[in-house]
Amino acid sequence: MSTETRVRIAPSPTGNLHLGTARTALYNYLYAKKQKGKFIFRLEDTDNERSDEKYTKDIIDGLKWLGLSWDEGCDIGGPYPPYRQTEKIDHYEAMADKLLSSGFAYLCYASAEELAALKEEQRVTGKPPRYDNRGRDLTIEQREKYEAEGRLPSFRFRIEEPQDIRWDDQIKGPITVNSADLGGDMVIIKSNGVATYNFAVVIDDIDMHMTDVIRGEDHIHNTAKQLLIFEALGIKPPHFAHTGLIFDTNDRKLSKREHGELVHIDYYKHQGYMPEAIVNYLIKTSFTPPDDKLEIFTLEEAGEMFDIKRVSKTHARFDMDKLNWYNAQYIRSLPLSTVTERARAFLTDYDLSDVSNDALEKLVGAVRDGLTKLSEVKAATAFYFGQTIDVPADVKEAALSSDDAKKVLGETLTQLGKLPFEDPKAVKAAVDSMGKELGIKGKNLYWPLRAALSGTTSGPDLGSIMSVLGPTKVQARLEKALKNGGNGGHV
Ligand code: GLU
Repeated sequence: MSTETRVRIAPSPTGNLHLGTARTALYNYLYAKKQKGKFIFRLEDTDNERSDEKYTKDIIDGLKWLGLSWDEGCDIGGPYPPYRQTEKIDHYEAMADKLLSSGFAYLCYASAEELAALKEEQRVTGKPPRYDNRGRDLTIEQREKYEAEGRLPSFRFRIEEPQDIRWDDQIKGPITVNSADLGGDMVIIKSNGVATYNFAVVIDDIDMHMTDVIRGEDHIHNTAKQLLIFEALGIKPPHFAHTGLIFDTNDRKLSKREHGELVHIDYYKHQGYMPEAIVNYLIKTSFTPPDDKLEIFTLEEAGEMFDIKRVSKTHARFDMDKLNWYNAQYIRSLPLSTVTERARAFLTDYDLSDVSNDALEKLVGAVRDGLTKLSEVKAATAFYFGQTIDVPADVKEAALSSDDAKKVLGETLTQLGKLPFEDPKAVKAAVDSMGKELGIKGKNLYWPLRAALSGTTSGPDLGSIMSVLGPTKVQARLEKALKNGGNGGHV
């Protein structure tokens, strides 16, 4: 048997890619990187009714968008053959047959109505819902009777109770689950012939030689069940590791019901989050780097320093403000060409046909320090489009109504021909020295120009605004502001 580390992300395509699944994928990926092992993508599509191809696509697209790639597994239209549980139905059944012959499993003929009645009775009497193992010891006659009625059996796996199921969890340390808390003998093959998650996952993990399983702590009871199946099959189980789940800042578990689209990676993609920021933040929510002060790191760097023992045992806290902080950092620090390329998706309302890539980079470069999400780039760059702009009345009143304002605009127009527009710093320095000549400085110097050129007194630095606009637009805007400066309403 190979000693190579093999881990997997095994999403069920029953919804869009969840933040929690993305984080689990990241930890598995990092673990594989650190161990120089393999990271495998497996689609767990045994739940026919809830599975949908559109979710498969969203999950794959989302993981790729985050920068993850896998060494084997499902990739629609990609280099890896699809790996889907629904293609292995016969194999699961054959494995279940083995358990049947060895007595670890039996055929259960209970109908859906009978099971619903049992559940109702337990509810009314205040007992936790569980299967009462009624099908364990059917006589041949009983079985024949059910078959004659046309009942289709499910396969159930015997869970002997009580017994302690123990494992040494790589994240949480020793865990014990009592078999009496597992809901009774479990279905492994449903009456329609489809394997249940808990069974298919064990067979897959065996077939795919998984060495480690890293997943959310909501699977702890499943792990206990799966360990029993491994034992019955006489196969050494993988090492298990369970991460705490992700909670919000009010200590509520992140869920579709409570948080809507905020739990989906797709939401962040459309809001203009940088995948690098999401990756960094998601890793950081539960992993403490060896240098515990380290905040910013790439996926690759995380792969080098990853240590499962440094993953927190407790819940992660998802704080949107913190994510926004990360995102702003990445918008500022990623290569300008990358940010500009990504910004295009948010600028489709503008006609960019005569804006060169260089000019667009310059524009995005001028505004990016003020952005938290890339979706804000549309509003932040609005000032650039059009030869002239309208200045709102309040801005005009605050910045353009004084005599000093007129002097500043007039003098800038006079000196326009010699201003070094190509260089934001130099053009700002030229404005400063012009201010000195006029005896006007600070707000009185900058605000009239900012207002006339961008319609607001905040935003990017003045040198960048002037440089981005260039002499022709600057001239048109200053002339318009001077001409309309004394009238009410818009300039
Ligand atoms: N399909 C399961 C899920 O989406 C995967 C659990 C596992 O990793 O075994 O939760």
